[in-house]
Amino acid sequence: MPTFNFCPQCASPLEVAPVQNHSRLVCAARCGFVHWDNPIPVVAAIVEYENDTLILIQNKGWPAEWFGLVSGFLEKGENPDEAVLREVKEELGLDAQLIESLGVFSFNQRNELILAYHVKASGPIVMDPNELEAYKIIPIHEARPWPFGTGIALKKWLKKRKEG
Ligand SMILES: [Zn+2]
Repeated sequence: MPTFNFCPQCASPLEVAPVQNHSRLVCAARCGFVHWDNPIPVVAAIVEYENDTLILIQNKGWPAEWFGLVSGFLEKGENPDEAVLREVKEELGLDAQLIESLGVFSFNQRNELILAYHVKASGPIVMDPNELEAYKIIPIHEARPWPFGTGIALKKWLKKRKEG
């Protein structure tokens, strides 16, 4: 997560100071701006694809063995339900159908708040090579959720699915 060095309001150097019992970056010298650094909402999609398979993606810059869920930031003014379908369309070229929301998951290491969804899609995949390095299609029963971020949402979904 990049941090600010200078005040976005008056361009003075920011410094670390306590505000409401937390260390914050503040513009103590001049205008009093506080960089609250609140978590950023991210939408993520478990993409169920055709016959009992999932599509996992690898973003550019990830290690070669890493695959995760389609995810992305909301646009200003965008509804999360629409944002998640837009991300699936952009990254994989698929018109997905929204099945359900799986809830909200904290990803503190990245200062994100994940809004996870189950979506279904079919048809030819057209991967966006600017955003993704690769994708893979795996049988749902072979999915092994990772213990952080969107992996927590995937784990919850698999458990729920198993229990029927
Ligand atoms: Zn300032």
